[in-house]
Amino acid sequence: MTGKSAARGAPLFKVRRSRVHGRGAFAARRIRKGTRIIEYRGERVSHQEADHRYQERSARDNHTFLFIIDARTVIDAGAGGNDARFINHSCNPNCETVMEGKRVFIEAIRTIQPGEELNYDYQLGRAADDPPDVDAIYACRCGQANCRGTMLWPPKKAPRRTAARPHTPRRAKGAPSTKRGTARKRKQAARR
Ligand SMILES: [Zn+2]
Repeated sequence: MTGKSAARGAPLFKVRRSRVHGRGAFAARRIRKGTRIIEYRGERVSHQEADHRYQERSARDNHTFLFIIDARTVIDAGAGGNDARFINHSCNPNCETVMEGKRVFIEAIRTIQPGEELNYDYQLGRAADDPPDVDAIYACRCGQANCRGTMLWPPKKAPRRTAARPHTPRRAKGAPSTKRGTARKRKQAARR
């Protein structure tokens, strides 16, 4: 499987086994900073439908294919998704998600060398009814020096950061907090 560049048709990345998590996406050639790598595609469903779809999966299953577009819509890359769903999380990512209209694109935030694994910060949301070991379930193994140990945001125990950060994490505008008392899959949200 390859990620195709719309402009040149040459594969930008290849999907293969990752040490971080399952399969991952690896740069097939040098990718310049600012390159739009791939659109995050999948079926567009309501939050309710997304929750319903993944309700039966184990709460311990940390695979995440849901991406919040807004208060009404979630992209489910588990249905009709493309290779964007194989891009793993990192606490020190080389890509970010960019929302344009109601579409999500993954773009390089620095130049990426061939063979490097592509990643972005999932910033998975927390919920009031999270089990105490939720951070362990969504543990991050990115191995970066600044790894916060979890794919969730914000970090559980860390005090609110006062230092300037390059990006201010936010939920997708109008995104509802996840419902209480329901088993549901984590949803990723774009930064803006
Ligand atoms: Zn990490």
